[in-house]
Order: sequence, then structure tokens, then C-alpha cells
Amino acid sequence: MTDPADRPHYKRVMLKVSGEALMGDQGYGLHPPTVARIAEEVKSVHEMGVEVCMVIGGGNIFRGLQGSAQGMERTTADYMGMLATVMNALAMQAALETVGVFTRVVSAIPMDQICEPYIRRRAVRHLEKKRVCIFTAGTGNPYFTTDTAAALRASEMACDAIFMGKNGVDGVYDKDPRQNADAKRYDKISYDEALSRNLKVMDTSALALARDNNLPIIVFGLDQPGGFRSILAGEGPHTIVER
Ligand code: UDP
Repeated sequence: MTDPADRPHYKRVMLKVSGEALMGDQGYGLHPPTVARIAEEVKSVHEMGVEVCMVIGGGNIFRGLQGSAQGMERTTADYMGMLATVMNALAMQAALETVGVFTRVVSAIPMDQICEPYIRRRAVRHLEKKRVCIFTAGTGNPYFTTDTAAALRASEMACDAIFMGKNGVDGVYDKDPRQNADAKRYDKISYDEALSRNLKVMDTSALALARDNNLPIIVFGLDQPGGFRSILAGEGPHTIVER
């Protein structure tokens, strides 16, 4: 008999991982053991029978805003950022397939030799066939972020929730917990409160999109071993953002 705590509460979920979560302690780029650890987290949830979508950022390699701050034209810098997310997606695909999880990388910008172009119905079919779908190249548009890509694809895929896997923090706090010992974690907060108080859940356009589509956002620590599985079973520290 399955332990009730192991029963999934969700059928299809979106996991957003920032690029920085893949760099370990290196300060830049990809740290293969860290990527492998996150792949194990995803595998353990996939084994619960949950359909998993992923969006991975690119901030460990390149961020458009950094490029434009250094005088580069913003849209070009953003395209470079989107390409960075493709490298991360391929690294995650390789790590997932090493542990026996079938995946598809699906790109908002067609690059046929590397991965599939995004076609909604095809992506849905992959999920039904229990393949993890990694949505890459963000939304395919400059001036957006991978948080927005996560909210957009989660809406299109009819995910039950977006899981924001964070590094070094296990939820949404009233102030920065790294600088304030008395910071308090919210168990639950509304979209509007998170927006009006400018709390660091995800960027504002992404949060507004999640709100408008009534998609719950669960913020949790992806650096806790077994953290993703526990959160899906309704355990462990987290913050849920909903109406
Ligand atoms: N980006 C973009 N459009 C998108 C998604 C991403 O232009 O739809 C670019 C943008 O320059 C961004 C970079 O890709 O800075 C990396 O994405 P993001 O900053 O969201 O990564 P994360 O912070 O999650 O690692």
C-alpha cells in the first residue's frame, strides 16, 4: 500500500529552475553534479506518476540585462540569454536520460538540429507519454524572462501548479531572510499581495499571468534533498501563492 504522504496531489506540474541553481558553488556556468542532483529530484517526482514540465533559466551563463548594462543592444543581449537557456536545457536532458527518464527539449525558437520546435499539441502528447518536457529559449521574445515562459507554458499545458525551485531559500518571506534574522516565511499569500508588496516570487509579468490564469505558485527550496517530492506530497517548508 502506498504511504498516503507519497500520493501525488498533482497530475501535471511545471518546475521552474533558475540557471543559477545549476552552477553549484562555482559562481558561473554548469556544475554537472548539481545538474545530476536536480535530475534525481525530477526523477523521484516523475516516478510518482506526475507529468513534469520544466523551464530552466539562463542566468548562470548570460542575462540580457547584464549585456545591455554593458552597452550591448538589449534585444541581441536577450537572444543571447535565450540561447543560454538552451545549453542548460540540453544539460538537464542529458542528466535526466542518464537516470532513465525520457525527455524532450522543446524550443520557442526553432533549432531543428538540436531540439524540437514548440508545438503545443505535440508537447501535450509527450507529457501523456510520460516524457519530461523541457521548454527552452524562454518565450522566444526579448524583454521577457524564463519566469514568464514558465507561467505561459504552464497555462498552455494546463498544469495544476508552478513550482518555483529556489536556491538558499525555502519560500516567500516578508523581507530578505539572508539579511534579516527575524524575516517571516508566508505559508500562503495572495497574488495581489505578492504583487503589491513586490515580494520576490517571480517577476511581475509572470506573476500577473499566473494570477490571470489562476495557476497556484509553490515556492520551495530545491537545494533540500528530496525537497521536490515532499512538496508534491504536501510536506516540507514552502509558500503557496494563490487567490
Ligand atoms: N530571455 C528573454 N526572453 C524570454 C526568456 C529569457 O529574452 O522569454 C533572456 C533574458 O535576457 C534573460 C535570459 O534570457 O535575462 C535568461 O533568462 P532568465 O534571466 O529568466 O534566467 P534565470 O534568472 O531564471 O536563470
